[in-house]
Amino acid sequence: MARSRRAPPRLAEVKRADRITPNMLRVTFGGDALTGFPVDAASANIKLLLPHDQQDEAAYIASLQGEGEKPVKRTYTVVEYRSDSNELDIDFALHEHSGPATQFALNAEPGDKVGIAGPSAPKLVDTDADWFLIAGDMTALPAIEANLKQLPQDAIGHVVLEVQHDDDRRAFTLSERVNVQWLINPEPQSGNSKLADIVMALPWLDGTPAIWVAGEASTVRELRSYFAKARQVDRLHRYTSGYWQIGRDEDEFQMVKRQDTDLTN
Ligand SMILES: Cc1cc2nc3c(=O)[nH]c(=O)nc-3n(C[C@H](O)[C@H](O)[C@H](O)COP(=O)(O)OP(=O)(O)OC[C@H]3O[C@@H](n4cnc5c(N)ncnc54)[C@H](O)[C@@H]3O)c2cc1C
Repeated sequence: MARSRRAPPRLAEVKRADRITPNMLRVTFGGDALTGFPVDAASANIKLLLPHDQQDEAAYIASLQGEGEKPVKRTYTVVEYRSDSNELDIDFALHEHSGPATQFALNAEPGDKVGIAGPSAPKLVDTDADWFLIAGDMTALPAIEANLKQLPQDAIGHVVLEVQHDDDRRAFTLSERVNVQWLINPEPQSGNSKLADIVMALPWLDGTPAIWVAGEASTVRELRSYFAKARQVDRLHRYTSGYWQIGRDEDEFQMVKRQDTDLTN
């Protein structure tokens, strides 16, 4: 029996894959099914719907239409959709113990087809805030870049970014009063990230902040607690989201997330 679902996924086609920095692979998708994708979705997330190991194409295509076993689902961020060329960019942070999404990106060849569901609403900070605190690791870099692009020219605040290698850093055009710190961690899966410590040591500024933090779940959990309890930041002014978890693939992580309000509040 067909499963119920919201909008049906689009069957997108790989146009190209470019290694934009040592540990970031940008896959550009196209194909007729992408026509009409929202142009203002930078920072929103999509679900990549991937085939199971050894699944034949017919069974995979049927799964995208709601028949049989559900496809493997992984969450990624819209970098940009260009309606003139009908192209959608997604950036894949490469990591050890890579799962099906990373493997898909590493092996992507022009013409490969994949299901894409979404996008969600964009994940952007409120630009009317008095100051900004934005932090995350490479999985959050696409959404953080979209956020930085929309900050006011006279914005004040802090940005802390954890990347695996010096050359994974990106250049941003930003107000001089936004202080950007890069943290290099070649082994994000080792549990030795200093991101939370660095963020908690930042000077706290006056007025209402807009907080945006995403990355490994235990780092985000520590920061969520710091903003809520130590800094009394109202939920309306903070987005703190675990994007992945050490030792758990996304299926397990999403299941735990649904049961553990500490990972979502
Ligand atoms: C809202 C949202 C937006 C996201 N946007 C992006 C994005 O734009 N780009 C992006 O790269 N990721 C993004 N992620 C994170 C991405 O969904 C996860 O990293 C996902 O687990 C990768 O799938 P996989 O199949 O490669 O690995 P999985 O099969 O899920 O996991 C396999 C193993 O890899 C480990 N692992 C997963 N991610 C990492 C990592 N980054 N570093 C080290 N080890 C890891 C897991 O702990 C597990 O042990 C986003 C997540 C969310 C919730």
